Amino acid sequence: MTRIFDEDLAGGMSTRAIHAGQRPDPVSGAIMTPVYLTSTYVQDGIGLNKGYEYARGKNPTRQALERNVATLEGGRHGLAFGSGMGCLDSIMKLFRAGDHIVCGENVYGGTFRLFDRILKHMGLSFSYVDTRDPQRVADAMTPTTRALLVETPTNPLMWLTDLAAMSEIAKRHQALLIVDNTFATPIFQRPLELGADIVWHSTTKYLNGHSDMIGGIAVVLEDDLADRLQFILNAAGAVPGPFDAWLALRGTKTLPLRMRQHDLNGRQIAAWLLDRLGAERVIYPGLANHPQHELAARQMSGFGGMMTLDLGSQENANRFLQAVRVFSLAESLGGVESLTNHPYTMTHGSVPVEVKEAMGLTDGMVRLSCGVEDVEDLIEDLDGALKGL
Ligand SMILES: *Cc1c(COP(=O)(O)O)cnc(C)c1O
Repeated sequence: MTRIFDEDLAGGMSTRAIHAGQRPDPVSGAIMTPVYLTSTYVQDGIGLNKGYEYARGKNPTRQALERNVATLEGGRHGLAFGSGMGCLDSIMKLFRAGDHIVCGENVYGGTFRLFDRILKHMGLSFSYVDTRDPQRVADAMTPTTRALLVETPTNPLMWLTDLAAMSEIAKRHQALLIVDNTFATPIFQRPLELGADIVWHSTTKYLNGHSDMIGGIAVVLEDDLADRLQFILNAAGAVPGPFDAWLALRGTKTLPLRMRQHDLNGRQIAAWLLDRLGAERVIYPGLANHPQHELAARQMSGFGGMMTLDLGSQENANRFLQAVRVFSLAESLGGVESLTNHPYTMTHGSVPVEVKEAMGLTDGMVRLSCGVEDVEDLIEDLDGALKGL
């Protein structure tokens, strides 16, 4: 865990993205944070050290990333992990057998798998709820509920959850509100400002933005909670290597720039697809026909490059996915390059068929992660692939 300094809060989001958590290396003046490839730190005597003892607990490269992202999220402490799932798994170690968790029913497939295949057998219990409706969430809370976990917008159905309403419900039940902010990023949505206790990310996606590492990060405001999480981070040890932390840190420097372009491309592509396919086949929170467009516009300052198309059948989806040339068929999202995938068999392959059916996730759906290439090329690519259906 790294606490931010007051100086990290200087300036707007772009200035912070580039500078927060980083200062020239005191040894050489190197402007870039060095990759501290070390497992241990030499001590001057018993109990005399420079604040570093063993690199599972702290590493200066990791700390620069933690301060940087904590500042962007409007938090006070950052904790970096070796993957998004490692981060969530460590967060869940705040709870103990007998605790009940309320979780959004359309969360990332890996989140559901961690809960349903592992943590459920360790004494935690989960209720999966459509968090678009705050009343359903309120009804699911019990006297043993310790946390409310949501993701907004969701993957791949692009459902939105009203974070201010969730915070009210969580507080009423003294439960922690934990928000996966991977899709929106702090550039478009800052859950801590809306009352969340923990915001977390797969840094693998937009924060890094270049599809060249796996990582996770959690950001919190409260000192006590940060101390408990740091204890877990060090005790359980799901930490990132320094080079991956450095790659993510290089990525966040251009996060505001990239998000602006993902958003511009996303809006233009969604508008074109709406025209080409009809309103009922394009799911994008930035479109006026999205059932929660008003909430999206209120809660987010941009809509980004994620959207889902319903092509009607798995056969159509497959033909489309094989025909694209600029978009690539792959898991993951949020990189500078455009990707597309088949959520039914890929990201949500581990979600039971009846659960997918209940939430309206069909095998004709394809998800687009619109990158930052020239938008004309992306539209031409989609046009060519759709012509073949
Ligand atoms: C990818 C992803 C995760 C998992 O993160 P990893 O870095 O792959 O472990 C969690 N939530 C969302 C929304 C994701 O897209």
